[in-house]
Amino acid sequence: MEKRVGEIICQELPYVHVLSSKKRGEHCDYCFDRVGKLKTCSSCHVLKYCCRKCQQSDWKLHKLECKCLKNVPPAIMTESICMFLRLLIRHKNGDHEKIFNDDPLWGRSFQDLMSHSSDIKKDEKRNNQFHHIMDVLSKLIGSSFELPSTEILWEIFGKMLINSHSIQDQEHKETLGIGIYLGTSKLDHSCDPNAVFTFSGPEITIRAVRQVVKAEPQQVFISYIDTNRPSWERKQELKERFYFDCQCSLCTTKCQQIDCLMTSIKCPNSECNGFIGLKRDGKDNSVWPCGKCKHAPQTTKMIEQLHRIWDASCSHKIRLDELFKQGDMKFTLDFAEEKLESLLENNFYKFNSNLIKIMEFAKDACIQLEFWEKAANYAEKVSEGILHTFPSVNITVGLSFLMLGKLQLYLDRTQKASKSLKVAENILRVTHGSDHALYQLLVDFQQQCCLLLGNSVHFLEQGKHKS
Ligand SMILES: [Zn+2]
Ligand SMILES: [Zn+2]
Ligand SMILES: [Zn+2]
Ligand SMILES: [Zn+2]
Repeated sequence: MEKRVGEIICQELPYVHVLSSKKRGEHCDYCFDRVGKLKTCSSCHVLKYCCRKCQQSDWKLHKLECKCLKNVPPAIMTESICMFLRLLIRHKNGDHEKIFNDDPLWGRSFQDLMSHSSDIKKDEKRNNQFHHIMDVLSKLIGSSFELPSTEILWEIFGKMLINSHSIQDQEHKETLGIGIYLGTSKLDHSCDPNAVFTFSGPEITIRAVRQVVKAEPQQVFISYIDTNRPSWERKQELKERFYFDCQCSLCTTKCQQIDCLMTSIKCPNSECNGFIGLKRDGKDNSVWPCGKCKHAPQTTKMIEQLHRIWDASCSHKIRLDELFKQGDMKFTLDFAEEKLESLLENNFYKFNSNLIKIMEFAKDACIQLEFWEKAANYAEKVSEGILHTFPSVNITVGLSFLMLGKLQLYLDRTQKASKSLKVAENILRVTHGSDHALYQLLVDFQQQCCLLLGNSVHFLEQGKHKS
């Protein structure tokens, strides 16, 4: 069956989901709702629910888990440990063989998921993680139930690593937890996907962002990673985390065009307002010539210098992420602005993805510091930049324009706000659907805009009558 743009392709609840440990006590462990007063499980005193119904629905898995949780201090229960424990309980109950979805197109059992366990075993970091989890789990489980064989434990671990999705809150501001979705796991990755996924609590929804001629899993592609990076970085992450080589259009036929944008540096020809881009093939560093005047730096020294600046900008991003998480916003903003200045001096072009990312950190820090004016200026540049890179329907672009619109509305730039919110609306209606809480929030802002604009028109008209 064909799916038009914005139509739901698949919607499902997770096979297993776990609330992030940071959110425990704020959100319900089952439905992820944020409510004032949560009821604590009277037996383990760890899990907390918004209502009796959620507690009852969770009991199938929590019954055994509850026993285990009594054996350890809650602090060591990280998401991966909780997740693994729940998967083991599912396994013990024989659920790994069951297909929960009635639709044969989307039905899949946990047993059928990819595990890449042989690749994962060779990876030292993963190996350590596995042994750490098993150490904790064996203490936790004690004699509550019998563990499957080591081979099966590796299989489950691999399936968990490869198939876990982080579950975002409705405004995509925070990660609420992780989940494994059996139907969704049938979908392959593309850096230029024809579908997107969103969450409402732990429920996942897949929607078409381009026409899908046949809505069967082999024809539907979602993106597993943040795609606003050049192809070599995307490929590396996909290889390291999911063990495959991406062959999507952005990584093959459109590679030059998109990489050139994402790594854009002002054309060295002072007469030209175009840009050149970076190219990396294994260890081989080179440049894409300017699209306008065909100019390109010639000496190896100059080319290597450009790549070094790019690598430095990558480490600034990582550092900013750490700083932002540590919470010192003034320091984060100062650091971001210092780096922005130096990247602009080094001729980073306005569409350069690292320049945009660093501006995003500056914007987010400004919002935390309530520097609204500055935040709006950064938000404007960020939104324009990513819209240029991702002109088709893209959640990040939609969210960026929504934030820009909110800031402009707050600063009484109502006309501009109305335009930004319209861009956001056109995107989020497709990606989230008009019933989603985020879309409703957007509509509220649009109504505020209308009211303000309507009032000023009314006001002007009154003025005219008087004269
Ligand atoms: Zn609940
Ligand atoms: Zn309990
Ligand atoms: Zn790709
Ligand atoms: Zn040029």
